[in-house]
Amino acid sequence: MSCLICAGQAESVECTSGWEERHCSQCGCYRMSLALILVMMEEGQIFDTERMRAWLVSRRELMPIPTIDHSQAILAL
Ligand SMILES: [Zn+2]
Repeated sequence: MSCLICAGQAESVECTSGWEERHCSQCGCYRMSLALILVMMEEGQIFDTERMRAWLVSRRELMPIPTIDHSQAILAL
């Protein structure tokens, strides 16, 4: 499995339906909505890896596995 943020090597973890959970050695643990993944694939968009990682780090102070949906996605322009 590859990381949805950096496309590096990541472990896929079973989670709630409609969500994908990944444990990436570079980005850490996160959960991403399937709807967001599909829209991004359809529109050919990619994440701004550095800014997403920084967001994940700050978010982990509140929750161990941050969830990423449309409103949290930081895209590369
Ligand atoms: Zn990653």
